[in-house]
Parts: sequence; structure tokens; C-alpha cells
Amino acid sequence: MEHKFDIIIVGAGGGGLFAALEAVRTNPQVSIAVVSKLYPTRSHTSAAQGGVNAALANKDRDDTVELHVFDTVKGSDYLADQDAVDYLCSQAPEVVRELENLGAPFSRFPDGTIAQRPFGGTVKDRCCYCADKTGHTLLHTLFEQCLRRGVKFFNEYFLLSLEHADGECQGIVAMNMRTSAIEAFSAKIVILATGGHAKMYWNRSSNAAGNTGDGQAAALRAGIPLKDMEFIQFHPTGLRKSGLLVTEGARGEGGYLLNRHGERFMARYAPQKMELGPRDLVARSMETEILEGNALTSDAGSYLELDLRHLGAEAIKKKLPQIRELSMHFEGIDPIEEPIPVRPTAHYSMGGIDANMARTAVSGIYAVGECACVSVHGANRLGGNSLLDILVFGKRAGQEAALEAPRRPLRRVAPSALWKAADELKSYTSHERYERYGIIREEMGKTMADKVGIYRTEERLRQGVEEIRALRERFRHIRLFDTGTVYNTNLVQILELKNMLDLALCVAETALVRQESRGSHYREDFPRRDDEAWHRHSLCTLEKGGDVRLAHKPVTMGKYSLETRSY
Ligand SMILES: Cc1cc2nc3c(=O)[nH]c(=O)nc-3n(C[C@H](O)[C@H](O)[C@H](O)COP(=O)(O)OP(=O)(O)OC[C@H]3O[C@@H](n4cnc5c(N)ncnc54)[C@H](O)[C@@H]3O)c2cc1C
Repeated sequence: MEHKFDIIIVGAGGGGLFAALEAVRTNPQVSIAVVSKLYPTRSHTSAAQGGVNAALANKDRDDTVELHVFDTVKGSDYLADQDAVDYLCSQAPEVVRELENLGAPFSRFPDGTIAQRPFGGTVKDRCCYCADKTGHTLLHTLFEQCLRRGVKFFNEYFLLSLEHADGECQGIVAMNMRTSAIEAFSAKIVILATGGHAKMYWNRSSNAAGNTGDGQAAALRAGIPLKDMEFIQFHPTGLRKSGLLVTEGARGEGGYLLNRHGERFMARYAPQKMELGPRDLVARSMETEILEGNALTSDAGSYLELDLRHLGAEAIKKKLPQIRELSMHFEGIDPIEEPIPVRPTAHYSMGGIDANMARTAVSGIYAVGECACVSVHGANRLGGNSLLDILVFGKRAGQEAALEAPRRPLRRVAPSALWKAADELKSYTSHERYERYGIIREEMGKTMADKVGIYRTEERLRQGVEEIRALRERFRHIRLFDTGTVYNTNLVQILELKNMLDLALCVAETALVRQESRGSHYREDFPRRDDEAWHRHSLCTLEKGGDVRLAHKPVTMGKYSLETRSY
């Protein structure tokens, strides 16, 4: 079966939906469809709690776009491309006001302006929020608007491959998850918005089960390079047992981090910013406390405490209702009465599909949101800048695609692409020697957490690379036991695992090669930032045999030259 559209958007999170909305608004004549493996409102954007940054200056009257740019560049440990950061921050006030006009119910100050809270690594308080459910409200607002404008959705369709010929986009091949039918979507333009890949750390991750990097893996297999894959952000406060997130907003509202002696240990690591240091620094400080025996212990492992009690019951109920709910459900404690047990959790992928202002190396293929690396986050993302990234670059890609589509011919997906996909799916039911999905998945998560975690060394990374290579080898014999065609969730899990393994190898290999410490990438054996050798982006491509080939490219500088980063 073949579908034909001017523009196909893969992914219905905030990035994909804003692209779709902007494309119809820009040119109602172009035909657009959104293809998504999840029902749109289940996308991970809905899990974003804390907020979105914009220099509205509602709280700190002297905040400016320029200060937002500086905080972002410094936060990135000078690895972000400064032209992209300028664009991100200068568009921020407009997209936040636009979302407000579209109906997003932002929390407000008593004077009626959009409320702003402090977030880590910034000099001004500029994080706009809707209680602690910001992503949920933004996603629903965008979805409503897309429905209102008649955007067509193919929900529960799984992207299998990205197709192009002679450097020009042809479309995608996807599987209808309800029937397992393989279908072609020919399109003049494809916008990838498939979200992040931090779920490869499995149960040491704050990510939803679907954040398996499918778009990145499809791009990699289609010859489009991935950039800066070694940079994975660990969020300081995951719940002890599940890794689920406790928003940075909890510290923004004044929460304390305590070790087993009841000490606010951040005073020793970031005396000025304390709990509101940038995420890489706070996560590393917590890991050090754990390694030095200053953590509390339990059957579920070592942990530290996030104490909100002094904020008072009313503030917790009003500003952090979801955090209270999650703590009660998943840890059995009420933060009004007890501190929350927390430890760092893999949270965000700074790296992704190499994109220059949302355009990839293939003409007609765009990438936006967490699957892309445009790169505005460099080596470390600031909290509140990712929702901003998906809105600003989602909107830009939608607009450019709608203007570009009428000028492009439709090139169709070749029938051989469908046969190839069908052969692959069939092969999973026919392996004689077999490996099981669940075992490989658990081992991958453990390898990534233990060998490619917060603190990295050459020895552990080498082991990590070898272990992931061995798991990829074992994956070749994976066996799908469920041969049904209706909602075959095992098949989807296997496809996701294949993607995560390819990306895990990229993360481990790039981390091994980068012999310096920058942002989230901390090498115990190379504890300093080395600008001379390493102030550059990493690029990964896949060789025919499946090995990863590495290259580099320069960072786009701007107003801010390299400086030591201290808080
Ligand atoms: C718990 C949590 C809290 C966060 N809090 C904040 C915050 O407060 N502020 C902030 O700025 N950032 C926050 N972030 C980060 C931010 O939410 C994400 O980076 C951002 O929402 C990603 O949006 P996206 O549109 O790129 O992708 P997502 O929202 O992840 O959506 C991905 C879409 O792609 C689709 N898709 C994926 N694979 C396929 C496939 N194979 N075939 C078809 N469709 C596919 C999915 O169905 C989905 O619709 C948080 C992240 C987490 C995990």
C-alpha cells in the first residue's frame, strides 16, 4: 500500500505537532500527515514537568534574550552552535506567547503575567510553567489545534526506514501496528520528530518506554550522520526505585538535597548556586556522595534525599502536585511529611541527527526536537531549554517545509524498500538458534549504566563497547515467538531494541574516543576540558558491516569565546 503526501511528519510529540500546525498555517494547500507509533497525547513531551524558558522578564525585570543566550552557551560547555542558540533564545518569548494565545494554561503571577520560576544554571528566573504539568498542557494545546485545522494522523504506525535517492527525499516505510502491514509513505518532505534515546539505560532512565531513538537509528541506517552522541544528560533527581523524574522545579521552588548526615552537600560543590547548579554538576556531586559512602542505603540501592518539607503543605500541593502524587505512588512517601529518596537518572539525549537549523544532509529531510542535534544544548542541556527547542525548531521546520514543498517534485518510495522491510520482519520468526528480547534488553541497560554512565574511564568504556558489540551480535539471532499480526507488541519491542543497540554503540564509541571532560561527559582519566584537541562535534556513521565510523566537525562560534565554566 502506498500513501502520498507533500509533507510527512514522523512523531506527534511537541516538536512534530508544532511542525504540523505551522505547516498548515503557512500553506493550507499542502497535504500533510503525521505518522506516530503512539497516540499523540502519549508522547514523552507530556511527561515534561518543570517548564519552558523564555526571557519574558516577568519575574526578573532585567532579564534579556542576551542573558538567555549566554546561560545556554555556558551551560553547553561551549559546544553549542551559537547561531542556533541565538535563534532559539530570540524566538522564545514569541513562541511562549503564541502557545498562551493558542490556549495553554500557564501559571500566573498575581499581576496576571505568565509566572516564571528559577531553574538550574541560569542567572535569571525565566522558566515559564503550568504547575508541574507543563509538557502535558502544551502537548494537548498543540494537538487540539492540529485537530481543529484538520491535520491527518496515522496513529500506531511504526517508522521502519527512511528512503532517499541521490540525496533527495522519497519518503518512509512504516508498519501499521494494528495489522502488521508494511506501507509506503511517499513524500516530498519528511520531518523527523521521534524524540530521544535515553531509554537505552533502561531502568536507570526517566524516559518513557517509547524513547528508543527510532528516528535516529533510521537516519543512521540511511547514511545521515548522528552528532555528539556521547553526551547523555543524567538528571539529578530520579526516584530511587523507578528512575522516574522529580522535576528540577522542586529545587527551583527551594527543595534541599541532603546526604545521610542531613548535610546540604551541594555547599561543597557549588557554593553559590547550591541545589540549582547545572544538571551535570549536581548529578556528579550526588554520584560522588554515593561513591564516598555518604548516601543512605536500602534494598533498592543507595540514595540521597530531596527535602521539600520546609516549603509547606500548601506550596507543595499547589506548585508540585504531580511530584507529590508520584512520590506517594512509587515510593510510598508523602513529601509534605518525609524527604523524597532520589538518585541520578539518564534523562536526555543531547546528541542526535546532525541538523543545521533543522535541515539534514539529505535534501527534503528535516529533523527537530530531541531526535535532532541542531545543536543548542552542546555538552549539557539547561532545564527548560528542551521544550523550547522542540517548539522553536518544530515551528521553523513546519514553516520551511510548507514553503518548500510546492517547489519539489514527488519522488516515490521504491517497491524494493517494502520487500526489504518484509524480509527483515519475517526473519525474526525463523531463527533457529535463538536469543530472547528481555535478556538482551536488561543487559544493554546494565552495560550502559555501569560502563557508560556518569563517571567514565577508558577501561570501563572499552568494556562497554565490547559488551554492546556482543549484544548486537546476539541480536542477530533474536527470536520472535508471537507470530500474530494484530498488535504484535513483541515485534515492536524487537524493532526498538535493534535501534537502541545501534545507538548505544554510537554513544559508547564516541565516549571512548573523546579524551576530555566536557558537560555531561566526564572522564575520570581526562578530568579537564581540552579545547585544543576536543572543541569540536563528533559525527557517527554506520559502515556496511555495521561498525561505527567516527569523524568530527567544527563548532560554530559567535559572540562568546571559550571560558572556564564555574558556578
Ligand atoms: C520525565 C521528563 C521530564 C521532562 N521535563 C522537561 C521540562 O520540564 N522542560 C523541558 O524543557 N524539557 C523537559 N524534558 C525533555 C522534553 O520533554 C523532551 O526533550 C521533549 O518533550 C521531546 O519532544 P519531541 O517532540 O522531540 O519528542 P517526544 O515528545 O518524545 O515524541 C516523540 C514522538 O515520536 C513518535 N515516534 C517515536 N518513534 C517512532 C517510530 N518508530 N515510528 C513512528 N513514530 C515514532 C512517538 O510516537 C512520539 O509521538 C523532560 C523529559 C522527561 C523524560
